[in-house]
Amino acid sequence: MLGLYIHIPFCNQICPYCDFCKRVSQSSYQTQYIDALLTEMKIKKLDQYSFDTVYIGGGTPSSLSLENLDRLFLGIEKSIPLSYCQEVTIEVNPEDITEELASLLARHHISRVSIGIQTFVPHLQQVIKRFTTRDDIHKKIALFHQVGINNINIDLMYAIPGETLDDVIADLTCAVSLPIQHISYYSLILEEHTLFYHLYQKQKLTLIDEELEEKMYYTIIDTLQKHQFHHYETSNFSKIGYESKHNLIYWNCESYHAIGTSSSSYINHHRSTNTRDLISYLAYMQKGEIALDEDEEINEYEAMKEEVILGLRKIQGINILAFQAKFQKSIIEVFPQIPFLIEEGLLEKKQNYIAIPYRYLYITNHILLKII
Ligand code: SF4
Repeated sequence: MLGLYIHIPFCNQICPYCDFCKRVSQSSYQTQYIDALLTEMKIKKLDQYSFDTVYIGGGTPSSLSLENLDRLFLGIEKSIPLSYCQEVTIEVNPEDITEELASLLARHHISRVSIGIQTFVPHLQQVIKRFTTRDDIHKKIALFHQVGINNINIDLMYAIPGETLDDVIADLTCAVSLPIQHISYYSLILEEHTLFYHLYQKQKLTLIDEELEEKMYYTIIDTLQKHQFHHYETSNFSKIGYESKHNLIYWNCESYHAIGTSSSSYINHHRSTNTRDLISYLAYMQKGEIALDEDEEINEYEAMKEEVILGLRKIQGINILAFQAKFQKSIIEVFPQIPFLIEEGLLEKKQNYIAIPYRYLYITNHILLKII
């Protein structure tokens, strides 16, 4: 599988917890940025590849004007026939969804839409400054259905300051009542250079304690599984057959190209990451050059480590035989701690897979540290 990621670094507003590469949308930058993305596609000769998946993320891609989105898709389609891809996803925010946007996306062969909701609970929406209602989301999803886009993900967040277990249950109740196929459910992480971090440092923000966060995590898994959302990755749930094909490329350590500020490509164990700085990205693109922040060969040991770190995020785990076929080495020879962790019960072996057992999913990072 081969993927293409396209980064749109604009948002309608900046959320207090977010450290993604983004800035508030300005139409003059939008227009230049679309030109720059199309230039980067040419420089990288992306028309020579056959992509299985395309993912347009951000930032908030739907904060682009309809005119700019149309221009972006027309430009992409000159090089990449989107109708041949297995999955073409775009991230959208609820407030941007209109009949016009839905028709435009359908016209350009978008097959999957990911809606950033985070929470339906009013007092938590006040905290994160993201507002929507279940009824509104129902109506917006209906707009996508009318134009034939039936593969819908929603992003939710838990462990928001002030959140209770009842709030998580309220969000889950709303989520499972929607006609959707996929849910990405991440905990709020305190990131440096965000308003939340600043407030926390000044003791004006209290985080959820770990025990409650763990309860929330298992409540999410158990409830979603009961409603036929199978848990296939640490933070991702889907109806059978609707797993995110693009994200599986990352978790399977397969190859992907990427364009736009801060985006990373990974091709044949070579990773290159574009600058995060919009102005310098635009300036370099005008000269027909790519401004890189990082450009590195991943050596074999690092590649095997990534295979373990990302592979164990999948609930099914890592396929031992596939690892052997890829690296011509046994995973146990490379990571001799694995048999001890299996003995301790921190890992489990099921047929050809090594995975993290259900009861330890919450401490996945801790187990990864022990392996690598
Ligand atoms: S959370 Fe999403 S909408 Fe909010 S600032 Fe970050 S990328 Fe933009």
